[in-house]
Amino acid sequence: GVHGIRLGSGPVVTPGPVALVLTDVTEARRVEAVRRDFVANVGHELKTPVGALALLAEAVQGAADDPETVQRFAARMQHEADRLARLVRELIDLSRLQGAEPLPELVPVAVGTVVAEAVDRTRAAAAAKDIQLAVAAQPGLVVRGVEAQLATALTNLLANAVAYSPPGTTIAVGARARSGFAEIAVTDSGIGIPRSDRSRVFERFYRVDQSRASATGGTGLGLAIVKHVASNHGGAVTVWSEEGLGSTFTLRIPLGTDADQPADEAGPER
Ligand code: ADP
Repeated sequence: GVHGIRLGSGPVVTPGPVALVLTDVTEARRVEAVRRDFVANVGHELKTPVGALALLAEAVQGAADDPETVQRFAARMQHEADRLARLVRELIDLSRLQGAEPLPELVPVAVGTVVAEAVDRTRAAAAAKDIQLAVAAQPGLVVRGVEAQLATALTNLLANAVAYSPPGTTIAVGARARSGFAEIAVTDSGIGIPRSDRSRVFERFYRVDQSRASATGGTGLGLAIVKHVASNHGGAVTVWSEEGLGSTFTLRIPLGTDADQPADEAGPER
């Protein structure tokens, strides 16, 4: 397209015709390289569970006369199939969010509903690790958005908080209004993220520790999805973390206008 070049944080410079052509070729090459990387990554990520399933299927056939072994292999096949299903689901989510489809209309969404939905979806995983979820959401917060996307984003943050926290800890979920944004924060007392990885965790397929991530069944797409949801809503997601102490992920989504407030909380005339 015809666009300017941004030089650092400086002004936008509109290049002459020759520079413009060069810029577009470079940009096209860069986009192509990113696309190739992505396809290679997807292929690699799919190979692992598919390969495991093939091996397990073979093993099951060889163990047909031992019901206990068959059970054990079948359970592992289930696990790999679940992982594959999650990966495919998240890839589809991500491609939708990246604008392959038009963005659904933004409508007033109650933050309380989004928080309740995400907490509900995380409760079982938290309980399995004896992790408490402490929720403190300012009542009456309304943003403009797509409820399903916001709930998915917050669920991803909560699922990570559970996955990367030791048993018996507490995860705090807070929501408040601040400078025109709804600020939704998820704070855990988990393993934290090393400084050098902090800026990269929002990249597709980026994981701090491959072995750790595969043990938790992660896909490496969760935070990329959160980032796209945030930017589709005109918001942002940030992370604060200290290794060994824990992490806070903060999702900021523009507040709705007064007209978006639900009628039953509209004000004193009622
Ligand atoms: P995954 O499916 O692997 O969790 P994500 O995109 O959700 O992928 O997260 C990317 C990486 O960021 C994770 O693999 C993990 O290393 C790190 N991470 C995300 N959330 C947390 C957290 N709350 N505490 C510690 N590390 C985290």
